[in-house]
Amino acid sequence: MSQYVVMDLEWNQTPAFHSPGLAELPFEIIEIGAVRLDEHLKIVSEFQGLIRPSVYRKMNRKITEVTHLTMEELRAKGRSFPEVMDDFFTWCGDDYMFCTWGSMDLTELQRNMVYYGMELPFPVPFLYYDLQKIYGMITGSPVMESLDKAAAEMAIAAERPFHRAADDAWYTAKVMQKMNFLSRKAYVSTDYYRLPGEDEEPFFLKFPDYEKLVSHPYAVKEDILADRELTRICCTKCHRALRKKVRWFTTNQRYYYCLAVCPEHGYVCGKIRVKKTDDGRFFAVKTTRLTDESGVELVIGKKEDQRRKRAARNRRLRMEEAKAPQKTGLRPASGSAIGRNRRRKMLEP
Ligand SMILES: [Zn+2]
Repeated sequence: MSQYVVMDLEWNQTPAFHSPGLAELPFEIIEIGAVRLDEHLKIVSEFQGLIRPSVYRKMNRKITEVTHLTMEELRAKGRSFPEVMDDFFTWCGDDYMFCTWGSMDLTELQRNMVYYGMELPFPVPFLYYDLQKIYGMITGSPVMESLDKAAAEMAIAAERPFHRAADDAWYTAKVMQKMNFLSRKAYVSTDYYRLPGEDEEPFFLKFPDYEKLVSHPYAVKEDILADRELTRICCTKCHRALRKKVRWFTTNQRYYYCLAVCPEHGYVCGKIRVKKTDDGRFFAVKTTRLTDESGVELVIGKKEDQRRKRAARNRRLRMEEAKAPQKTGLRPASGSAIGRNRRRKMLEP
């Protein structure tokens, strides 16, 4: 890829929180802004387009507060979404990689395109750079920073206002220039709007220090953990299938962890993040990475958390049972007691 298109969107949504919006289009794009950079991250061109809304006829008050965009201005200066998109893609050219601050913009862009019956010209998997994530990797920030804050931390002069698509794309490009992005060029993200089909291979991405796999959607969450192919752990260096030292467990039903060991390369940590699709199904994002003692401690700590939570729940159930003995069937879950020795044994390579 020789160029980068840093893109930012503004969108409108149903004005009141209690009135549901259109299920297939919760966010209607009202502005697109973008900055194109060459391979050396020099800004070569800017794009801005206002869109005349056709779904939500009133502005959400919060959005007007933040962007200062009004329905009158959008009606007067905006053009239809497909028209603006045609111009945008012509401006993009044909050899570029999208960059966004956060992971939402490309998903919403595709949702809007599908709503207007436009064909999606993007490859599957759709790779891009999530600059917010890369910024976090570089600065070691444990939270996803807002663009305003990142721009301030990078000492970028506030030459423009914030929260309009073209300006935010420009600030994002400035942060990209300053944060030594090229040192993390390997860390592409993949958009989750279009997932692999059930009969297709999962998306597979290899990074310098870990591997990522994105599964097809499953009807129920339990099917993910029941998929032997998906839950298998292979060493990221020699690719042999590994025996698990700590089997898959969860602390919150969203993140699952496991620990395996390669006789040659040491500990390997697996993590599955369960995500929901628009149609209420579930898919998995699995990462596998070699880890050291501190990584092992982290997984063991989570496992003990889970055990403590389970023990507390069992105690509560037993107490409830004692208080109301006529209510039977409240049996505590078993298997909660794994002693210290067992834990030590689990970890012997
Ligand atoms: Zn190995």
